[in-house]
Amino acid sequence: MSADASLQWRLMALAKTLGCDELGFGHVPRSVLAKEVPFKGEVYYVSLLKAFGEDLPEQKLEEHWRRLAILLESIAQQLSRHIASEGYKALPLPVDVRLCPNCHYHYSGFCHLFEMPVMVKGRNSILLFDHRRAAVEAGLGFIGKSGLLISPKYGPRVVVTSLITNAPFQPTSKLLMPYPCETCDECVKACPVGAITNEGIDYSKCLNNSGSTRCWMCLLACPIGRKKQPPPK
Ligand code: SF4
Ligand code: SF4
Repeated sequence: MSADASLQWRLMALAKTLGCDELGFGHVPRSVLAKEVPFKGEVYYVSLLKAFGEDLPEQKLEEHWRRLAILLESIAQQLSRHIASEGYKALPLPVDVRLCPNCHYHYSGFCHLFEMPVMVKGRNSILLFDHRRAAVEAGLGFIGKSGLLISPKYGPRVVVTSLITNAPFQPTSKLLMPYPCETCDECVKACPVGAITNEGIDYSKCLNNSGSTRCWMCLLACPIGRKKQPPPK
């Protein structure tokens, strides 16, 4: 089926109007999604990204992230309704579902446990979807040394979610750029428990340090997309 370019353009315009900062499109094999997808045919997705500012005090970050997650979910729902009004199926996925059997952390956006995909429990199905990887494939960013999704424009100060659909979309291109983490180790230095190394992330150390809320240090330290210098310590 050829791509519905007209719908794709209209969605981009609508998302912008609703407050979404960036949008990407992709195609995902059904096998990646584990069990049943609640519609037939090919599965496409829309990645949505909302950025948050640099000026928020550290104590407000968690609260602000949650507010933006709610906003982004509402945008995904409105876009899904628009897609459905054109005769296609669309399913908005939650930003944050606390279904991890180990830690009850968020799986997308900021969380370090997004090695695991989002799980959406339906009546007869469990969908597995990783917003972060979807966003990378759709050209919205790359995975930093910190394990965070890093947008070239906003750095790791972003929330992402996705919707899946059978509307045929032309996938947007993956970013082609030098990997900035090659020459940076700010998050490595900032992590208070040494959870980030050049070899990967030790999630158990991060979890032990962060407890029920995140420590945000790796996010705050990342220079990508930052327009201001961080305040002196
Ligand atoms: S402990 Fe803090 S700085 Fe280290 S990886 Fe976890 S969230 Fe990032
Ligand atoms: S702080 Fe540096 S190394 Fe860490 S994710 Fe950001 S750019 Fe990459």
